[in-house]
This record gives sequence, C-alpha cells and structure tokens, in this order.
Amino acid sequence: MTEKVAIIGSGPAGLTAAIYAARADLKPLMIEGMERGGQLMLTTDVENYPGFPDGIMGPELMESFRKQAERFDTRIMSYDVTRVDFSSRPFRIWVDEDEYQADSVIISTGASARWLGLESETRLRGHGVSACATCDGFFFRDKEIAVVGGGDSAAEESLFLTKFASKVYLIHRRDELRASKIMAKRVLEHDKIEVIWDSVVVDVLGDDLVTGLRIHNRVTDEDSDLAVEGLFLAIGHDPNTKIFQGHIELDDQGYILTPGSNTMTSVPGVFAAGDVTDHVYRQAITAAGMGCQAAIDAERWLDEKESE
Ligand code: NAP
Repeated sequence: MTEKVAIIGSGPAGLTAAIYAARADLKPLMIEGMERGGQLMLTTDVENYPGFPDGIMGPELMESFRKQAERFDTRIMSYDVTRVDFSSRPFRIWVDEDEYQADSVIISTGASARWLGLESETRLRGHGVSACATCDGFFFRDKEIAVVGGGDSAAEESLFLTKFASKVYLIHRRDELRASKIMAKRVLEHDKIEVIWDSVVVDVLGDDLVTGLRIHNRVTDEDSDLAVEGLFLAIGHDPNTKIFQGHIELDDQGYILTPGSNTMTSVPGVFAAGDVTDHVYRQAITAAGMGCQAAIDAERWLDEKESE
C-alpha cells in the first residue's frame, strides 16, 4: 500500500502536520520515533506557547497534540526510521527490514542535545553528567551542581535546577549570556546561581560519580577545579538528519535545506518542518507553524501531481 503522506518525527512540527494532513483526508502515517514528542518532552513549564496563559508542562502539551492528531485518524507507529530512498516515487522508508511507501514525505525529526565531546563526560554520563535537567534534576537534591551554556536552555535548566540543588554554577564561555533578557535577568538575580564567566569545562572529575570539574578560564588562561556532584550540558542541538544524508540537500551544519519559498526540500514531494530545518527560531510555536505549512504544501503538491 502506498501512503499519501508519511510523516517522520513527532514533535510540534510533525504532529501539527499530522493534524492538518488528516483533516485534509490524506490519512497520514506517522512514524513517530522512539523519543516521541521531541524536545518538549524534556522541558518543564512552557510559558510562551500561546493559548496557555498560566503555562503548560511540555509533556502535557505534546500529549494534547498527539491526541488531536489521533482524533482525526492519524496512524502512529512508535519506531525509528532506519533508512530512506527518495530517488524515485513512491518514496521508500524503512524501519529495519519493514518497508513503507509514500507519495509524499514530511520530515520533522527535530534536533538533539549537543555534548562537549570529553572522554570523561561520556564515561560519567548517567553518573552525574546529563543533558536533561527535567529528567535528572531530582537526583541532585541539596547538592552543588554546574550547568554549561549561555542560551535560553542553560538559563532555563539553571533556574529549574535551583528547585533541587543547593547551588548552581552556570559556566559560560563568554562574558555575556545569549539567553533572552527576561531569562538572563532571572538567572543573574537568583541567589542560588553563580555565573562563572569566560570559562570552559576541560575535564569532568570522578571515577564512578562526578566529584568536580576542571575549568579553563579563557581570559586568564588558568585552570581551576570546581567541586560539584552534577554536570548539565545545555550548549545547543544538532539536527537529526543522519539518515537523510545523500538523499536530500543539507546545509553545512546538517540542517535540511528548503531552497524555494515553501517547505519543499531539494526533492520534490519531500517536505521539512521544525528544528530539523530551522536553526534560527527553533521554538515550539514556529515548529508547529511549519508543520502546518508542510501539510498544506504536501496537499497542494499531491493535487498538482494528480491533475497532471
Ligand atoms: P543556543 O541559543 O544555541 O545556545 C547555546 C549556548 O551554548 C550558547 O551560549 C553557546 O555559547 C554555548 N555553547 C555552544 N557550544 C559550546 C561548547 N562547545 N562549549 C561551551 N559552550 C558552548 O541553544 P539553546 O540555549 O539550546 O537554545 C536554542 C533555541 O531554543 C533558542 O532559539 C532559544 O531561544 C530557544 N529556547 C527557548 C526557551 C524559552 O523561551 N523558554 C528555552 C530553551 C530554548 P555562545 O553564546 O558563546 O555561542
């Protein structure tokens, strides 16, 4: 059976695409991935998604998106796509050995957390090193911990972690936060947060559990040790496009290119929406908006193909 639309990925972009495609009677098949719901599943309070004046928890918001997509008969499969072939139509998508075919594809696989790339960081992942404050903050009650980064994620994670930790060091490589003004202000005024400026983590100390960090000050060129029991990375994300390499055009950072004036990729009939193609805005609301655009673009493209 050839699907009219297959949607790969299930964050705000994919689920909004599903709602629109389903309501356009395209009977979308969504392959949601093992990490369903995307990055909002790893956040707490979402305060800037319109329609929720008191804020909403990220996972709750995504569960509502999903219910709405299912209400209009989106079929959802909880697997990771392992391979694609977009060289001819119908497009081919594999989950291991199982093959699916579709006349159009919407890619909304999002982005994943970046790591520093230190051997000690990898070794101690899950033993004090984490990239998800929401998942692991609870384990650091009354402990001193550090967060690396200077953007909104680092600010948000630092503030969240003050609920548990006795002290949060925010380690930033420059002398100014990249975070939005309101978030930066909250961080700088918080009595449990101390910012360590112009510094990078060069080693995570500890054999089985994190006991501290070696920090290099880029201005004084000096190293020092900081005793903490946890390290949270919040240094940005990379797009999840590995399986699409060689099948559609990506930019030099791996984001999917949409060369025209809509969400179509370099392969006609394959569309992209959300963080997988957007390294500028990267908001839930913009991802959802692009998901809507992608579904409308796919619908129009399918109509054109049918009338040809
Ligand atoms: P980001 O804005 O790209 O910030 C990444 C931060 O990590 C930057 O401060 C960067 O330093 C630092 N960094 C990057 N690589 C590093 C490395 N190897 N070592 C040390 N530091 C490193 O990423 P983000 O904070 O994840 O935010 C992404 C997007 O999501 C943004 O558009 C943000 O506004 C949005 N967001 C919004 C909210 C909210 O509104 N509540 C919450 C979270 C995220 P430099 O500053 O020197 O580049």
